[in-house]
Amino acid sequence: MRATFANIYLDNLRHNILEIKKIIPKATKICIPVKADAYGHGAEAISKESLKCGVDYFAVAAVAEGVQLRQANISIPILVLSLPNPSEFDEIIDNNLTPVIFDSQLIEMFATAAQKHNKVVSVHLKVDTGMGRIGCKIEDALSLAKEISNNKWLSLAGIFTHFPVADSLDEKDKEYTLTKIKSFNNLIQQIKAEGINPGICHCSNSAGIFCYPEACFDMVRPGLITYGYYPGDITAEYLNSIGKKVELKPVMELRSRIVAINHMEKGKSVSYGREWIATEDSYIGVLPLGYADGLLRNYGKNLLVAIEGKGYPICGRICMDQCMVYLGNTCSIERWHEVIVFGPKEKGALQDASDIATRANTIPYEVTCGIDKRVPRIYIGG
Ligand SMILES: *Cc1c(COP(=O)(O)O)cnc(C)c1O
Repeated sequence: MRATFANIYLDNLRHNILEIKKIIPKATKICIPVKADAYGHGAEAISKESLKCGVDYFAVAAVAEGVQLRQANISIPILVLSLPNPSEFDEIIDNNLTPVIFDSQLIEMFATAAQKHNKVVSVHLKVDTGMGRIGCKIEDALSLAKEISNNKWLSLAGIFTHFPVADSLDEKDKEYTLTKIKSFNNLIQQIKAEGINPGICHCSNSAGIFCYPEACFDMVRPGLITYGYYPGDITAEYLNSIGKKVELKPVMELRSRIVAINHMEKGKSVSYGREWIATEDSYIGVLPLGYADGLLRNYGKNLLVAIEGKGYPICGRICMDQCMVYLGNTCSIERWHEVIVFGPKEKGALQDASDIATRANTIPYEVTCGIDKRVPRIYIGG
């Protein structure tokens, strides 16, 4: 196995799902987003472990991601959140995936494909309440719901929307989200009043679950919090301050090894651009971990990695496949010692993906999704 690898702590995953269950109503279903290979953690393993905690749905972005889960014998409903290419409709139906529909053309196209397979296809109607992405306008949703339920090849299995600012504590944003929850709720009442069964109604992502308990409806879609990170402004401290004790544990840990140690005389330089120059005789450790593995160049400046319980800074520019660590002017570190780059702090990491994201002006989603496929995932605690 490679010296660079990612531990995936399945015990932490189960812990996070149980934390989520503690704060949602008992009857609320859980849909785990496992798109982008489960935010970089490995969709198959994460899905199988989540199933042990009793989740109800999975959500993917691409059809191929759904097919991968079906091939792994996962049989619960799988919602395909992004729009497929028409050439993938057959695959969706063959694999019993649940597509998202939001206009008459999509209804027509899926109904035609369903008829061809002689199979009724379950769909979810997506309503756009402010993302400006995919979904129908809220005022068109009722007639589309009718159109779906009147089509004998389609079954309306759910209606959902997605919030753009649920993770913000800004008063205007909170008001915005509350307005959207209200109009989504009104829509569902209208649909029901017409005698149409809307199926599973759902809208909350991680932040929605934490901040808008009234918006759990029939199902929630916790992505980030399942993987152990707090969304946007909604930190552990904030949750504590409003009396919600939720402890999340990061699931992914990135590790590598010191594969070489260089003794550098004063004045010698490290990496491209010669940005790091030894100010005294020093030792430099080499890690086979670079930006192609997902350790981006702008994560690097003075990032401390943990070796034998102590922090050592990355020095010089991060290369595509390697980076260097300053070990000091004397060196107790030995070749092949293990290095923790990020992960749950209780296992020895000095930072998690959220801390790295903050340094690099990005979000933890991008850090874990960015860990490349060539970094083997090792599943622990399953
Ligand atoms: C990715 C996604 C989620 C999960 O969002 P988190 O912020 O990770 O909880 C929920 N709903 C939709 C539609 C998504 O695309």
